Amino acid sequence: MEKFDTLIIGGGPAGLMAAMKAGSYGQNVAILEKNHSLGEKLLISGKGRCNFTNAERDLKAFISRYGENGKFLYSAFSKLSPKDTVGLFRRIGVESVEERGKRIFPASGDSQKVLDALIMQCKKFNVKIMRSTPVKALKVKNSHIQYVITDSDEYEADKYIIATGGKSYPKTGSTGDGYTFAQQAGHTITKLFPALVPIRTKETWVKLANGCNLKNVRLNVLLDGEKIDERFGEMEFTNFGVSGPIVMDLSAHVPDWEGELQFSLDLKPTLTNEILTARVKREIKKSEGHKRFVGLVRSLLPAEMVKLILELSDVPHDKPVEYISDEEIADFVKLLKDIRMNVNGLWSFNNAVVTRGGVSLKEIDPATMKSKICDNLYFAGEVLDLNGPSGGFNLQICWSTGYTAGSI
Ligand SMILES: Cc1cc2nc3c(=O)[nH]c(=O)nc-3n(C[C@H](O)[C@H](O)[C@H](O)COP(=O)(O)OP(=O)(O)OC[C@H]3O[C@@H](n4cnc5c(N)ncnc54)[C@H](O)[C@@H]3O)c2cc1C
Repeated sequence: MEKFDTLIIGGGPAGLMAAMKAGSYGQNVAILEKNHSLGEKLLISGKGRCNFTNAERDLKAFISRYGENGKFLYSAFSKLSPKDTVGLFRRIGVESVEERGKRIFPASGDSQKVLDALIMQCKKFNVKIMRSTPVKALKVKNSHIQYVITDSDEYEADKYIIATGGKSYPKTGSTGDGYTFAQQAGHTITKLFPALVPIRTKETWVKLANGCNLKNVRLNVLLDGEKIDERFGEMEFTNFGVSGPIVMDLSAHVPDWEGELQFSLDLKPTLTNEILTARVKREIKKSEGHKRFVGLVRSLLPAEMVKLILELSDVPHDKPVEYISDEEIADFVKLLKDIRMNVNGLWSFNNAVVTRGGVSLKEIDPATMKSKICDNLYFAGEVLDLNGPSGGFNLQICWSTGYTAGSI
């Protein structure tokens, strides 16, 4: 049986970072990767541009973006902070640029460059990369991993790092195997949910605006009729609900909100009802009676929204604007400021950017990423019960926990 100092299961960003770090000590390191190629999810990250971290420099503010579980990351971030990450990538040949929302991308705008740089470092440190080698099981005895089992072989190591990712976007190789391995070693897996994922609505009329991308809108969240949250920014209608940045970020919280969950979309959040009413009346006056209701809607909203608004409004689309009553104007203004949608759950793991939930953090030492249950087992990356919003926060989990797990 071939034996290594450190054996890493999974060749994504967390596994590659762990391998690079472990290899830098001169250790004999191997990665077992089930796909034919490494880092498939990393390659599609940031729409192929890889938003690999975030330039928020206040560590407390950075960590607060991960919610309650974020405090687990203090120790890993003290070993490799987001700022250190930018420096590390620069040293291995990846210059970066900062964009909107403090998002950091490789200056080349190409995720392949990030992956290539990591693989190059692994090669430099003679990490043995075994592709098309899915791990099937761990052989565990007395809280100690004896070896791992693949289709054709068994491999032994002093230290094992599980970096198999979560369950999101399974076509990239992250099919949740790491949770099974963790359970074989005696670990608890917290409840798993898709996160950073589109949200379904009960209303089917959303499809009338399918693909419509709205900027500068406000989405209010109502639980049993009470406002509990709001987001301002970009959202999109889909065939079955809503998506886009503000919706994706809200999706991670949806499982916590038990009760009747509704969205109220304000298409004109910077205008009060009075100002919007005056604006509508101005449009009507300007048209000198030549416009119909559909023309009025067109003058106020993006073209892709017109069908949906006509469907939701009681005013006939061909009604001449001079016959629209004050009451109808008031209802129209109310509609533009409060389109109600009933949440009907999240879309599936197939379309989720990350997984919420994972290996329970209570069972892992945050200073080393070492299991508190199994004496030669470590974890890194999305397999852990950690997830953040979009903006480079999720890859930062991988870099810092991978670096920590690979350290000796
Ligand atoms: C479309 C999309 C865009 C994204 N964009 C961004 C972004 O711009 N910024 C950001 O911060 N985050 C982004 N993310 C999230 C980020 O890509 C993930 O958080 C990150 O890839 C997780 O890394 P990981 O190494 O933990 O797991 P993965 O990247 O999932 O890698 C795990 C690896 O383990 C392998 N594996 C699994 N099981 C086995 C097994 N049994 N045996 C051997 N190997 C196995 C898999 O094949 C895979 O190669 C995006 C995600 C998606 C889906």
